[in-house]
Amino acid sequence: MANTSIDLSENGAIVSVKELIKRLIYSFVHYYSKSTSTKWRKPLVAFADADDPLFLELKKAVRPSHALPQELLEDAETVIVYFIPFVEEIAYSNSGGEYASREWALAYIETNKLIVRLNRVLARRLEKLGYKSKTLPPTHNFDEETLISDWSHKHVAYIAGLGKFGLHKMIITEKGCCGRLGSLITNAEIKPTPRPRTEYCLYFYDKSCKACVDKCKFGALTLNSFDRFKCYEICLRNFRRYRRLGLAGVCGKCVCVVPCSFKNPVKRLKNG
Ligand code: SF4
Ligand code: SF4
Repeated sequence: MANTSIDLSENGAIVSVKELIKRLIYSFVHYYSKSTSTKWRKPLVAFADADDPLFLELKKAVRPSHALPQELLEDAETVIVYFIPFVEEIAYSNSGGEYASREWALAYIETNKLIVRLNRVLARRLEKLGYKSKTLPPTHNFDEETLISDWSHKHVAYIAGLGKFGLHKMIITEKGCCGRLGSLITNAEIKPTPRPRTEYCLYFYDKSCKACVDKCKFGALTLNSFDRFKCYEICLRNFRRYRRLGLAGVCGKCVCVVPCSFKNPVKRLKNG
């Protein structure tokens, strides 16, 4: 494998590949937002070791259909995962009502397009540095019958230390859960991000919250269960409503305007 410790970037400054990837993601999202209705906050980026035993555990214990990084890129070394948080207004627009808001649906569509393009840019940049990569689609990679995907950005984000699962089955990051996840695999060796030790969900931390369950008026999410088929029905309803905008099989009421929407609420609680 090639040396990944340093790279000479265009402006002559010496930065690590890790730093280069982060900067590319930050600047791409910043400039991309100038041409879209959707606006985003600064992304979060994390790195997982492709040999992390949790990948195998995920496949064996949780999702047999989930691919290992090496099944998608033979000499995989690192999985790059990023979270692109929406501006708060988008979540506020989707807080109430039966249907997803137009802004929320559009944010989903526009962010998915952004992720496809961003992944291409990252792959090209890595290629120029002599590394291979395999980009993953942001969505629509699940089995229509089981509704289970062969690559779960949420689980990969967990493995990469980007956040923790909440009661609503979504990943809560330091910037909350209202946004989209993207990932790609590379044979560049990048130091992994340490996984956080504490919970990010208030229910798992001290049982002081169940706001997401209260916000799901559709019976898909309860304290003890999540019915993915019921949830999917609601998402399809919104898909039909917004089909002129693009592919928006979304709902998201359970993540909008709850304590973990924009921040890690446990950290906020601890900090007073
Ligand atoms: S709304 Fe509350 S219970 Fe639900 S995931 Fe967020 S912090 Fe956890
Ligand atoms: S996305 Fe909608 S239907 Fe699915 S669990 Fe959340 S609130 Fe319920």
